[in-house]
Amino acid sequence: MTNSEMMDKVADLQKALRIDCEKCCGLCCVALYCMKTDGFPENKAAGVPCRHLRSDFRCDIHDRLAEQKMKGCLGYDCFGAGQKVTQKMGEDGNWKTNPQKAKELFQTFTVVFQLHQMAWYLLEALALSSDHKLQTAIESLIVENEQMTAATPEEILSLDLGAYREKVNLVLKQISHQVAVMPANKKMTKNFLGKNLSGKNFDGSDFSMALMIAANLEGASLRGSNFLGADLRDANIKNTDLSKSLFLTQMQINAASGNTETKLPKNLVRPLHW
Ligand code: SF4
Ligand code: SF4
Repeated sequence: MTNSEMMDKVADLQKALRIDCEKCCGLCCVALYCMKTDGFPENKAAGVPCRHLRSDFRCDIHDRLAEQKMKGCLGYDCFGAGQKVTQKMGEDGNWKTNPQKAKELFQTFTVVFQLHQMAWYLLEALALSSDHKLQTAIESLIVENEQMTAATPEEILSLDLGAYREKVNLVLKQISHQVAVMPANKKMTKNFLGKNLSGKNFDGSDFSMALMIAANLEGASLRGSNFLGADLRDANIKNTDLSKSLFLTQMQINAASGNTETKLPKNLVRPLHW
């Protein structure tokens, strides 16, 4: 593949990873199980439509989600898996018009979600990589990802996701190591639940998979900090510069509490409910 073909592929993928709820049959509001304690309107099982999902697949209380403190709904981002899987159904309709296919559709959605999430990280890894061999490995994983998500639901459900995830994790580890501002501190805790870290210097810190629920990061310095998989629900990131932080996702940002002074990486958008 030429450089320009790869650049086109990357641009297409960046677009495909953005949610487009207009083109989706409300998959997240049906396929996933929800808990009231996580900021959803009710406890519901996977496969059961939320009581607020309208017949046109729009949310009945969309304009009131912030007012009603529906943090789970406000925070969710499917990395574009919803519209991708909805379009796969084509003439087969959707989960409502074709209930026989609903289970397959929901399962496909959860697999494509995971693939798109990995694609999100791979795109960032590609942008960060300066090593030719690693770049080639990342590009080939991106191509593989695209082929997998383009497959039929039946093929998608028979994929060996674990084997692919292992390959992705390996390159992400290599990239994290390459771009680390400081050597990884193995003794650094991963539990920052409710901790006050305000104004401190965490440049280059490894927060990957850290528990940071309700941590106060206001005004902290986070240049080059790695947030891969960190739980940032209700974390205070007001007046915080995250523009040079690594491996953040829209879902993490949506779930955190920021303000107009919070600086985000270029690939993320400021949530409307901040
Ligand atoms: S699954 Fe994704 S695209 Fe579909 S409604 Fe939910 S967030 Fe929107
Ligand atoms: S309240 Fe709206 S956004 Fe939340 S799960 Fe229900 S339909 Fe979806």
